[in-house]
Amino acid sequence: MLHKVNLPACHIHLNWILQLQGILLNGLCKDTTTAHMVDEDWVRQELVPLSLDQNWIKTLCSRKNYKGTKQSLLTLMAQIAGLPSTMKQELQAAFEHDCRFSDDFEDKHRPVHQFRQLCFCPVSETIKKEITDFFLIFYEPLLGEGYAIPNLSYPFNRKHFHDDFLLANPKMEICPMCDGQRDLKAELDHFYPKAHFPYLACHPYNLTPICPNCNSTANKGPKIPLQLDETNPREDWFHPYLQPLMDWSDKSKFPSFLYFNIRFGGGLRLESCDTRVQKRLDNLEELVHFSENWKRQLKIRIRAVGRDIDRAYNRGRIKDRQELIEFLGDEADKMQDDLGESAYAIMMYYYYKAAAREQPEVFDELLKRFKTAQLSRTGT
Ligand SMILES: [Zn+2]
Repeated sequence: MLHKVNLPACHIHLNWILQLQGILLNGLCKDTTTAHMVDEDWVRQELVPLSLDQNWIKTLCSRKNYKGTKQSLLTLMAQIAGLPSTMKQELQAAFEHDCRFSDDFEDKHRPVHQFRQLCFCPVSETIKKEITDFFLIFYEPLLGEGYAIPNLSYPFNRKHFHDDFLLANPKMEICPMCDGQRDLKAELDHFYPKAHFPYLACHPYNLTPICPNCNSTANKGPKIPLQLDETNPREDWFHPYLQPLMDWSDKSKFPSFLYFNIRFGGGLRLESCDTRVQKRLDNLEELVHFSENWKRQLKIRIRAVGRDIDRAYNRGRIKDRQELIEFLGDEADKMQDDLGESAYAIMMYYYYKAAAREQPEVFDELLKRFKTAQLSRTGT
């Protein structure tokens, strides 16, 4: 994640959904709870602490995930209640453990967090599908009609999430993952994919709007931002809320070129002298392949820079090499204001900075353009 994002205010609703899942799971995983005990009345009894509307509970019990096993929540809950005691203990412990991953990111003194994700649970594939569906049923309605949440006068849905996200991240009309353009109301990414991390399907730190390009199956899509043998998700990966490259909107904390820089010669590479940051940058590149897109965008934008140089020359703003360098420095300053707000501003800021520092791989081409403008003017 190239950008830091802030939690939307609706994280309290997502936490409420986690609480709801936790209460039900706790009841289902008790040794004394058997499959035939689990009916609507049992659910009502378990959910008394949440003071829910009786009709809402009825709807919840009959809700199905039509993309999955197509069984109702009540049927799935009965299957979980019927699991052997050791499996139930493992399931409940794994859910509680994985939901704490954000605490472990935030508190660096805690031991390394190792996900216990469902795929490591020693149960059959059929049971894994049913457990996955149990959790996803609580997420899928977010895409559609929404949740009726206590003390909220309207249903909590996907639009609500996007609106709150923009309030918490004003002006951020870009993809936090790649700095490209994003549709403000479209893609919502599960950073840890819900198919592999169903426990985190509704976790507030696991949902981020990203661009369609990053969310496509060719790029991040459902890929897991961890290596197979990875033991420490804090170490080698960025995280949009918890461990981003930078909060670019905070202009007072601008990174040094040692912490982060872009090399333009021989391609385009994001670099850092900090080996951990470099590893995270490389992992992000492998996950979303954003540099190919950046290179395409850079070609288009360099043509526009050339036209800007022509215009500045014709208006008498640039008369010699020194003024060209000053012009490029001014453009870098303008681009700095766009960081975190306009697409590809990170790339263009570093491009202008490299040009103003007369780095040959960038500057030579622009100097040539300037000289061509001079010649054509002299020629006429
Ligand atoms: Zn993106």
